[in-house]
Amino acid sequence: PLLANQIAAGEVVERPASVVKELLENSLDAAAKRIDIDVEQGGIKLLRIRDDGCGISEKDLSLALARHATSKIHNLEDLEHVCSLGFRGEALASISSVSRLTLTSRTLNCEQAWQVSTEGQQMNCQIQPSAHPNGTTLEVRDLFFNTPARRKFLKTEKTEFDHIQEVIRRLSLAHFEVAFHLTHNGKTIFTLHPALDEIARARRVGIVCGSEFINQSTPISIEKEGLSLYGWVGFPTFSRSQADLQYFYVNGRMVRDKLVAHAIRQAYRDVLYNGRHPTFVLFLQLNPALVDVNVHPTKHEVRFREARLIHDFLYSSLHRALAEVRP
Ligand code: ADP
Ligand code: MG
Repeated sequence: PLLANQIAAGEVVERPASVVKELLENSLDAAAKRIDIDVEQGGIKLLRIRDDGCGISEKDLSLALARHATSKIHNLEDLEHVCSLGFRGEALASISSVSRLTLTSRTLNCEQAWQVSTEGQQMNCQIQPSAHPNGTTLEVRDLFFNTPARRKFLKTEKTEFDHIQEVIRRLSLAHFEVAFHLTHNGKTIFTLHPALDEIARARRVGIVCGSEFINQSTPISIEKEGLSLYGWVGFPTFSRSQADLQYFYVNGRMVRDKLVAHAIRQAYRDVLYNGRHPTFVLFLQLNPALVDVNVHPTKHEVRFREARLIHDFLYSSLHRALAEVRP
């Protein structure tokens, strides 16, 4: 099973940012309201993610690290209706096979926290009593210490940290109700309080995407025939740093989709922002029956049942919003 884990790790764990993604998704699945992320040396030396979610019981602790052990699917039917972020039970097994991992957790109705540590090859893990508030902390040290070939592919500390930040950006925009705190090498990078109203959400977007974006954007909030679009569209600037500022969520999941990109590009073009690069943070909500969100964890694909309808809705919504603020 160990070799299998290390091979699987190649798919799930490409770099520190992929570890962060998996661990954050677990915390969100556990209904955390606050997540603290501490990173050292671009995540290569240390990633520590602490949440106040439901926790893992003593008896499930070692199971959580086993391959294909998941608490999120109970039968085949569940597989079709999966709405939690992770469901294959692969992440923790993979991560633990290529790092030094410590998992500490306490469930709500338990007075005692429990801890288990693994070190790459050493999968037989001793469970020990520990001290920890309700919730879970995952500590991942020395990523790829036992797979030097993979470690060699890591980029500089700064590049790896940039990737980590991007993962947190995407997830924190999808979860305004959750607080996030991020440090790198002991220094606070940002603190995101729960954003429950319009002003607080705009403030979070400003912190996550930069004040340049939020100051030069217009809010959108449109509902029509069961479709709703909410968020911010940027007035195009030539600023290169904003080139990747394109966040589109369908029913809470970030997607990259040709149809969406096309509708947005066309709206920009037709409001005379020709040749400029669209920037946006947008949330589309629609009846889940009208959309297939590809459940493959590393893809961000989506398939709309009524493509034309969605395209026209996006196009007209953006066209209207941009025309209102046309200089
Ligand atoms: P998956 O998320 O696909 O189920 P993982 O390997 O990511 O698989 O996690 C294995 C199991 O460990 C999860 O199903 C869940 O029960 C438990 N788990 C992992 N992280 C947390 C967390 N932060 N809080 C509560 N439970 C967790
Ligand atoms: Mg998971």
